[in-house]
Amino acid sequence: MKDSRYVESVCGKFCRYYKEGKEELYCGGYKILEQNLTASELSELVKTSPPKLKSDNLIHQLNLETDKKLRVFVCDKCDFKLDGCDFRDGYSGAPCGGYTILYSLFESEK
Ligand code: SF4
Repeated sequence: MKDSRYVESVCGKFCRYYKEGKEELYCGGYKILEQNLTASELSELVKTSPPKLKSDNLIHQLNLETDKKLRVFVCDKCDFKLDGCDFRDGYSGAPCGGYTILYSLFESEK
């Protein structure tokens, strides 16, 4: 079961696909963030350094090199990938909130 503190920081704030009641499925971004940051570190991160691009805009300005890394690091571990993800399957939709946060972190490291 997802931790409501992480859900608030990742899904509630940044994921256009989030619906309450689907707490048994974990996107790859959520998993990575939960494994590497405490809930308070994540809350502070998204408060002080929110993603520079919203997920809807990100798709139009995507850095393909960064996306290539995140495909392996994030999307290959995603529960939603099995049923298909519009973003991952040909960039026909915006990415999820976890991807959006991690993309911004990867881009800020350059
Ligand atoms: S962008 Fe799609 S495949 Fe990648 S982590 Fe998010 S939901 Fe999963």
